Amino acid sequence: MFWTNYHNHSQYDDGKNTVEEHVTAAIDQHVKSIGFSGHCPVSFENHWCMKTEDLNQYFRDIDHAREKYGDRIQIYKSMEIDYIPGIISPGDLWIKNLHLDYVIGSVHFTGFYENGSPGEVDGTHTGFLHGLEHIYCGDIRQLVADFFRLNRQMVRETRPDIVGHLDKIKMQNRGLWDEDADWYRSEILATLEEIRSASATIEINTRGLYKKLVKEPYPGLWALKQIRDMGIPVHINSDAHTPREITSHFADTAELIYDLGFRALNVLIDGEWNLLKFNKNGLMRP
Ligand SMILES: [Zn+2]
Ligand SMILES: [Zn+2]
Repeated sequence: MFWTNYHNHSQYDDGKNTVEEHVTAAIDQHVKSIGFSGHCPVSFENHWCMKTEDLNQYFRDIDHAREKYGDRIQIYKSMEIDYIPGIISPGDLWIKNLHLDYVIGSVHFTGFYENGSPGEVDGTHTGFLHGLEHIYCGDIRQLVADFFRLNRQMVRETRPDIVGHLDKIKMQNRGLWDEDADWYRSEILATLEEIRSASATIEINTRGLYKKLVKEPYPGLWALKQIRDMGIPVHINSDAHTPREITSHFADTAELIYDLGFRALNVLIDGEWNLLKFNKNGLMRP
């Protein structure tokens, strides 16, 4: 039995460790296929993205790890790319020209402040509330709807291979909106429809669980049931920022979705995506 994880950050962005440290820890954690998805450089001041001048070294480190550990684990090159209209998109030509093995498209910002800087929804709760007040005049429903609208627009325009942490905005909820409300579920459903139409895939992201921010993975249980019914392929990813997070909460998440009726995970083996059977102990060999 083995695991895969296509969402890893390193010291080049807001991760803590080297590519090699992630790879050796992944081997110890029975991971057979891993991908690095550093936050793609952006043109504005930001504390979590890679720097443009570090990109070549980031890719060289991955090449080096492939040479050294390629007989024990498959290692893939990617980036987690923001979608901020007019600023950055997974469809940008310079990114396409990098010929990454796959691309994760993620929304971390919605709306703009008057000075033109994007409103962060993936940072501190205080920062989120600041944007809610100053960009959305306190209208939480508008902000949340914007988050999903941007996800849909990203999928429609750029078709990333993987849509990152689909409902991550819920980590900011803390009683601000009802996640069982019809309007909220309609936003999720419309986003899933867009993902299915684009033949993109969805990661089941465990970061909120081990960071103890939420009780369900991203996306949560209700969305997972819709994903199952719609037949959209899924991966279990940890969004690891340290080596010990690489397979964190994989067993319980695998058990959760197995009990929901999922029987296969989408896995990159020998450069091809394939659906492989799994259970709570991991993936099975084809
Ligand atoms: Zn992210
Ligand atoms: Zn990430």
